[in-house]
Amino acid sequence: MPGSAAEVTRRPGRPSHGAVRPGDGPLRHTAAQSAPDGSSAVVIGSGFGGLAAAVRLQAAGISTTLIEQRDQLGGRAGQIREAGYTFDTGPSLITAPAILDDVFRAAGRRLSDYVTLVPLDPFYRVWFHDGTHLDYTSDVGRMQASMAKFDARDAARLPRFFSRLRPIHDAVIDEGLGARPFDSLGKMAAFAPRVVRLGAWKPVARFVGRYFRDPRHRFLYSFHPLFLGGSPFRAPSIFLMIPYLEKEGGVWYAKGGMHSLVQGFAALFRDIGGRVRTGTAARRIEVRGGRVQGVRVATRGGRTADTPEPVETGTPPPGGPTGPADDAARGRSFLPADIVVSNADVGHTYGSLLGHVRRRRWNARRLERIKHSMSCFLLYLGVRRRYPRLSHHTIILGPRYRGLVRDIFDRKVLADDFSMYLHAPSRTDPAMAPPGCESLYVLVPVPNAASGIDWAHESEPMTRRVIAALESWGLDGLGDAIEVQHVFTPDDFSTEYNATLGNAFGIEPRLTQTAWFRPHNRSEEARGLYLVGAGTHPGAGVPGVVLSAAATFHAVAEDLWGGRQGRAASLRPVRPGGAALSFGPGPP
Ligand SMILES: Cc1cc2nc3c(=O)[nH]c(=O)nc-3n(C[C@H](O)[C@H](O)[C@H](O)COP(=O)(O)OP(=O)(O)OC[C@H]3O[C@@H](n4cnc5c(N)ncnc54)[C@H](O)[C@@H]3O)c2cc1C
Repeated sequence: MPGSAAEVTRRPGRPSHGAVRPGDGPLRHTAAQSAPDGSSAVVIGSGFGGLAAAVRLQAAGISTTLIEQRDQLGGRAGQIREAGYTFDTGPSLITAPAILDDVFRAAGRRLSDYVTLVPLDPFYRVWFHDGTHLDYTSDVGRMQASMAKFDARDAARLPRFFSRLRPIHDAVIDEGLGARPFDSLGKMAAFAPRVVRLGAWKPVARFVGRYFRDPRHRFLYSFHPLFLGGSPFRAPSIFLMIPYLEKEGGVWYAKGGMHSLVQGFAALFRDIGGRVRTGTAARRIEVRGGRVQGVRVATRGGRTADTPEPVETGTPPPGGPTGPADDAARGRSFLPADIVVSNADVGHTYGSLLGHVRRRRWNARRLERIKHSMSCFLLYLGVRRRYPRLSHHTIILGPRYRGLVRDIFDRKVLADDFSMYLHAPSRTDPAMAPPGCESLYVLVPVPNAASGIDWAHESEPMTRRVIAALESWGLDGLGDAIEVQHVFTPDDFSTEYNATLGNAFGIEPRLTQTAWFRPHNRSEEARGLYLVGAGTHPGAGVPGVVLSAAATFHAVAEDLWGGRQGRAASLRPVRPGGAALSFGPGPP
């Protein structure tokens, strides 16, 4: 395999988020230069945030072990394969591939060495309840032509709208605010006037409403917070950087599905010497004298799916509740580490893994006050026929927008009407389904478990309702054509991922839970403990959690190397969609 963990070279002239740069020397560092001798890290959880953090740590010469409680890596970005059908379980749209590429660059590789990305055009087709539709693309001229059919004044305002989004995008992406820890009030004080000036504090729907009057256009440019589990009527307009990111960097598909990107990250991590242990659940983060000591884990039979050897048993901290002999007998062991990065749900990390420690900030009361994102009801359908009416990404809207969002986020009831997002990767990549068949997933936004909805009872009728709605929308004979079916409810988010209240996207993106107000990448509870992923800064979504890994790594670098060297952790601007990028063959 090319290169090694101990010798990482950054290509000249290529922007990077978080490659460590000890001193002002050339951008080349070795394990001996960068990490104190023998520094070790354990990353808990293998979502994209955990994987990206693990790569960055290992690439900086910190001996890193990634543990995952499930048998499969990727967290929400899992995969189901059955009877020739392949389904991504969660994320399906790739935006801002340059942010992903940065992780590979930090390890001296390129994303394109591991994964083939193909651009999608249109990004998605949105079907409105009145039977009209709009194709969403990055081509402003084409967008204007389509919008003009509904409202010419709206169409004329599109360029101005995007020009207002640019400074928001630049602050978060180009200036690296999204890729640095946001854990000082000073930073917040410096950022706040800018947020006010840009109007980025306003709810997304209000910001968008100032530019467009046709409800279809208002939906088209305001719904993106729903992709992150937030309400467009509450999430601050800072999240409008997402349509801007899409416009600049495109929307992409990873050949073989999103999970092949997970596999690419995992292969990269292993190639540079990282160790992966699936089937290994963290039970406690051990802390002594205010500093992390390591992670107590439970493994199935003391063995893991990826690594045939038994999990090593280190020396547990004195006074720990169990000794090594007890641990071994229970399939438990202790992984000592100088640095622990938790990619698990924030409620689970602080409430359970750190539940035995007296917490200064994230005590039980504060954890209870966290507003968690909405959840999803998901159907994975292997269908014995093809449906040309479907695009690769299709959004089918019900009759209500604001009212439905309120039902999901505020009233927390399962409404009679619903909107759906459909992923049909077999439209682009025939290998995702047997010949003549379609691999489909249907996502219906629903309230999280604070609703008290009994999914054991609701799941079946909901499945029938969704299939009936799709049939009447135009997928004739869908029910009879299904040969593979899996259902995933908010209960499954809780049991599969330890997600508090079955949230699908971590902590809700709202003003009071953004930037400094979000749980920090550098934990206040113990030295050496960090968070990464959707629950921390900057937030959910694949680009968000990959940026969070850069922010977390930045915090680790500052703490390890301190002062100038730590601050020098490279956070140069990145321009998604920049001309230098090349991810694969053109459109299929
Ligand atoms: C249905 C759906 C569709 C989405 N679509 C998109 C999309 O199209 N584009 C996009 O950009 N984003 C999308 N998202 C959002 C995106 O998928 C997530 O924000 C992101 O993948 C979350 O990554 P993460 O790093 O927070 O980790 P997660 O994926 O949440 O993974 C956390 C991991 O930690 C593990 N874990 C938890 N507790 C423990 C423990 N005690 N010990 C060991 N391991 C533990 C879990 O098993 C899990 O594997 C979607 C999300 C969902 C749910």
